Amino acid sequence: MALAEYKKKRDFKKTPEPKGILSKQKKTLHFVVQKHHARALHYDFRLEHRGVLKSWAVPKGPPLKAKERRLAVLVEDHPYSYRTFEGRIPKGEYGAGTVKIWDQGVYAQVTPFDDGIKKGHLTFVMLGKKLKGEYALVRIEKDPKNWLLIKANKKV
Ligand code: MN
Repeated sequence: MALAEYKKKRDFKKTPEPKGILSKQKKTLHFVVQKHHARALHYDFRLEHRGVLKSWAVPKGPPLKAKERRLAVLVEDHPYSYRTFEGRIPKGEYGAGTVKIWDQGVYAQVTPFDDGIKKGHLTFVMLGKKLKGEYALVRIEKDPKNWLLIKANKKV
């Protein structure tokens, strides 16, 4: 069940992306943001949770200033090993284009994520190079895919 959508969309004989293998949940949670030059440039915002990377595509990139909010479209869970992926997805494959790590690090969940994903509200603290401090992901009503990534109005 986990990663089924990820695997379905990809031909691992053709794409250099990691295969869909589930990893164990650890105490330290990692995140990565990958700049993805696909048909449309976007940033893939991925938070480790229960052995996979919960993933959102952020067309304009994550907010860096307090109170800024950006549309974040929920996409399929990615395998934990996707965290270190950089490279070129070949033409004709899903997400064709280049992927480069834009920021990475650890993060801490402030609100419980299992509940938050269902309810559409997550709060967490980013400890990256570019992304620092408290953020929230809030689902926009009526569309399960559309969320807002919001930088909280707090100093780190
Ligand atoms: Mn992408």
